[in-house]
Amino acid sequence: MSEKTALAVACEQLRIAAEKLNLQTELHEMLRHPKRSLVVSIMVRMDDGRIDVFRGCRVQHWDARGPFKGGIRYHPNVTLDEVTALAMWMTWKCAVVDIPYGGAKGGVCCNPKEMSRGELERLTRRYTSLLLDFIGPYRDVPAPDVYTDAQTMAWIMDTYSQFKGYSVPECVTGKPLSIGGSEGREEATSHGVVICAREAAKLLGLKLKNATVAVQGYGNVGWNAAKIAHDIGCKIVAVSDSVGGIHCPKGLNPYKIYEHKSKTGSVINYKGCINITNEELLKTRCDILIPAALENQITGTNAGEIKAKIVAEGANGPTTPEADKALQEKKIMLIPGILANSGGVTASYFEWVQNLTREHWTLEKVNNKLETKMVKAFNDVYKTAKQEESDMRTAALMLGVGRVAEAMKTLGLWP
Ligand code: NAD
Repeated sequence: MSEKTALAVACEQLRIAAEKLNLQTELHEMLRHPKRSLVVSIMVRMDDGRIDVFRGCRVQHWDARGPFKGGIRYHPNVTLDEVTALAMWMTWKCAVVDIPYGGAKGGVCCNPKEMSRGELERLTRRYTSLLLDFIGPYRDVPAPDVYTDAQTMAWIMDTYSQFKGYSVPECVTGKPLSIGGSEGREEATSHGVVICAREAAKLLGLKLKNATVAVQGYGNVGWNAAKIAHDIGCKIVAVSDSVGGIHCPKGLNPYKIYEHKSKTGSVINYKGCINITNEELLKTRCDILIPAALENQITGTNAGEIKAKIVAEGANGPTTPEADKALQEKKIMLIPGILANSGGVTASYFEWVQNLTREHWTLEKVNNKLETKMVKAFNDVYKTAKQEESDMRTAALMLGVGRVAEAMKTLGLWP
């Protein structure tokens, strides 16, 4: 399905923003490459006694605005290039939503679906031990991403703390509540996606009550987005996961679909729904489309057939530059991932602040602060789009890249 690698897409987006911002060539060149990339071999004793070696990495893009921050992905197709693109998007995202972090990402090439809990724990702990000199509360703070979760973060925290000799909850975010996680973190990415879709709908004069929504991916971001959208009155007409999708024009109950997926392993084969492919899901007739799976899903090939009025990117990099152009021609409002899914890293920031200050905020406080941050970021991007007469992606990139470039210029070059 892909036309370009995620890194080629990320570099092309940076080029467009750099050109619009009239960025110095040296700065553009620096931002095109990560500050540091660490590649590791992770040896794991498997349940049958064999030792397997997994390839992993951590890419730290730039940290001019604060410590590196970004998720860890476990997936069989993870590559260093993909993780580099994801790290670059994290740098822009933290700047767009204006939190004091740089961007990073980690990845391990493995198939968690075929691994036992014990094997995943040993993999995570060994990987953490290899990153030990590169991560930490003031250096680089990991979080969950595809096929990692709160439990993975707990193992990272415990391994890091064991090496330090004291408990360091602030070394990682997206943790379970029992060990310093934040209220609202699990749903925060999706909350942010729905807030952005709501603000976009207001601009388009679209009512959210009974607005139809299709969601690709039914993991942390997809399922929570479906749930939150449903709870505010939207009608969820299609959802999917890596196996396939389901379509039900009358509307689905996302809670029941979640139960069904927990029992059967997939959303497909749900009574009263038609099974569809992921490609068909993207082309579903709906008001709001939320891609919440992987990169390169909406491409030059299928963008012409997207029927949504709003595309809110829950995933990182689901839309290629060719598709961006096609969506613009069709006057579809695209909310780019570096804005739409920035609620996750924002709540991670709140978790880190709570850990550093040894506080625990209420859900109401977290959600109120998240709402304020997301609405401000949305308005900042929209204002830039109006000023520059650009689409929302270019505006968000200009805002993010511009803020990072400004910080780098202010710091100067050492030595
Ligand atoms: P997850 O592992 O919880 O869920 C991933 C979902 O995508 C699963 O339902 C899986 O079945 C589905 N999927 C995998 N391959 C697919 C395919 N080829 N087609 C359709 N569906 C497929 O991961 P997540 O945390 O929900 O992350 C999803 C996306 O959101 C990623 O792009 C991630 O980088 C991005 N994101 C996540 C967070 C976060 O807080 N977790 C924050 C910002 C952005």
